[in-house]
Amino acid sequence: MNDIEDVSVLQALLEAEEGGEDRVPVKTVIESRIDKFAGEEEAPDADELDIAEMSAADVGNAVMDIDDPDELRELLEGEEDGEDRSSVKSLIESRLDSVEGEERQEAEAQVPPEEKHPELDHPTADKRHVRALEDATYGDMWVYCETQAGDLIDVSREMLGKARELMDDYNEEYDEEEQVVAVLIGDDVAGHTEDCLAYGADAVVYHEDDRLSRFKHKAYTEVFCEMARWGSPPGETNPEPAEWRDYDEPRYVVFPATNNGRDLSAQVQAELDSGLASDCSGLYIEDTVISNPVKTGSPGSNRTFERVLHMKRPDFSGFEYSTILCLDNPNREFHPQGASVIPGSFEIPDPDPERDGEIIERDVEHEDEWFQVQITEYDQLTGGVDLTGHDVIVAVGRGIGDDPTRGMELALELADCFEDADIGVTRGIVTGSYQFDAHVEQYTAEERQIGETGQVIEPDLYIAAGISGAIQHKVGIDESDTIVSINTDPAADIREFSDYFIEGDLFDVLPRFIEALEEGEVDMEALADGGRTSPPSDAADGGRTSPPSDAADGGRTSPPSDAADGGTESPEGTATEDSDTDRGDSR
Ligand code: FAD
Repeated sequence: MNDIEDVSVLQALLEAEEGGEDRVPVKTVIESRIDKFAGEEEAPDADELDIAEMSAADVGNAVMDIDDPDELRELLEGEEDGEDRSSVKSLIESRLDSVEGEERQEAEAQVPPEEKHPELDHPTADKRHVRALEDATYGDMWVYCETQAGDLIDVSREMLGKARELMDDYNEEYDEEEQVVAVLIGDDVAGHTEDCLAYGADAVVYHEDDRLSRFKHKAYTEVFCEMARWGSPPGETNPEPAEWRDYDEPRYVVFPATNNGRDLSAQVQAELDSGLASDCSGLYIEDTVISNPVKTGSPGSNRTFERVLHMKRPDFSGFEYSTILCLDNPNREFHPQGASVIPGSFEIPDPDPERDGEIIERDVEHEDEWFQVQITEYDQLTGGVDLTGHDVIVAVGRGIGDDPTRGMELALELADCFEDADIGVTRGIVTGSYQFDAHVEQYTAEERQIGETGQVIEPDLYIAAGISGAIQHKVGIDESDTIVSINTDPAADIREFSDYFIEGDLFDVLPRFIEALEEGEVDMEALADGGRTSPPSDAADGGRTSPPSDAADGGRTSPPSDAADGGTESPEGTATEDSDTDRGDSR
């Protein structure tokens, strides 16, 4: 069909189809070609148009089919010399503008940005050509082991432990002998190589230089990529021969999702022409079947990808997990498959000082331009707010939005009721545009943020007011002994991992809670114990203690036992206490 442009032939075909099989998709294809070529045949020739005889509306329609600016200019001149109607002239002019604009845009699109804006830097100018490897070989799991102030940080150990576990399973499943390779970069990192082996690496590649004493984005990226390519230029295979590796680039790489690790991982993966799943908290390797034509190469077919690193991360809403896969296209390879890992996601394994492994020092030639950024001065922050180690943390979230200052004041008043309490906030507060009065503003700063990108706390009692319970917040409070949450939404996610959930408006509940505490109505010891101690006075609740009933019902009338009925919702649905088992499991 693509070769037929003659409308009469197409018409004949359409009739034949209608008289025969009469298939709708076939007729649609023929009709669309008829439309296309009949339109072309009917396109007016500007010379043949006698616009003096035409209405403004007809001229408007006719010029829409004229794409040649010269023809349009001719028509315009004809109108000016003849009828000179302003409505007709403006229709022709507007068509002329649009045709010339399209031509201009097309011409501009051909000019590369470096020529168009020579006054700007074009740091990615050399990246327009895909430099991914083709038919390359990949192997091993590389772990970037970050050090800070001369120490190997915990997340490096956590990642080594996880990588060990993943690659042990991998080797068994695929009958391979691929390794965990630790990577160390800095000015004095050789001392950590043995530690890396002890925590699970089979080999450690390191590079030391005085100029790398502090993290430098460009220099660290270049060194890492050089190690990954091992002497092979970007986009080419055949690295230098090495006994410990027989592949072009690593199969998998993992980085810590620290400030520096996030920075490094993104740039390294871009340089290696692959992708990155950032801020992951779960990793596993599995085969997977994909039907997406971009990945399979043909619509309607399936393709099995083997040895895929599944990278789990909270999605941006904060309430779901997504699993990210980094898969090759039919004509384009995406390796290494890379992730950055949230500190604390995996256990630190027990070190095995007897573990043997290979230690490889890599000499990388530096270029001066990697060091254009100079760190002239730095200081170790000693101030800041440390929320860890307190008995009680009162935290507020965007639920204070109706009256942010009053919300903070209530949190402060509540914290004052305890001997050792402090104030925390969600990221929703830190990044929100709330206006706070000066006397509470200091409590809303990022240094008080709790969660994945804030502080991780373990108080006896955590009180969350107006907080929804996003995954990123939850990871910062998971280890609290007792969690009390106050929320207007009975379906808020935080309910699931709270020991006590108080359905109510925090502006009503907090004053009642404060009052109850001040008057000694709440047995704090029992509350902080998550209801596990059973004070004799509270026999009615079957061995548990009731949550602060006054506060719990937001000023409503449910009696104390309603709220503490051993896991069932009170008649008014105001406060619930999870059973011990549920609490352990759901959190
Ligand atoms: P919301 O989700 O808006 O919840 C407000 C809650 O208040 C709702 O449940 C609502 O029902 C309730 N409410 C409203 N009015 C009242 C009232 N009058 N009384 C009682 N309840 C009321 N977040 C963190 O906290 N810490 C982190 O470290 C963190 N790191 C992140 C990292 C990344 C990479 C990403 C993408 C996000 C991160 N976030 C973090 C953000 C997180 O996803 C959520 O957006 C955030 O935690 C929501 O804050 P919130 O609970 O205050 O607000």
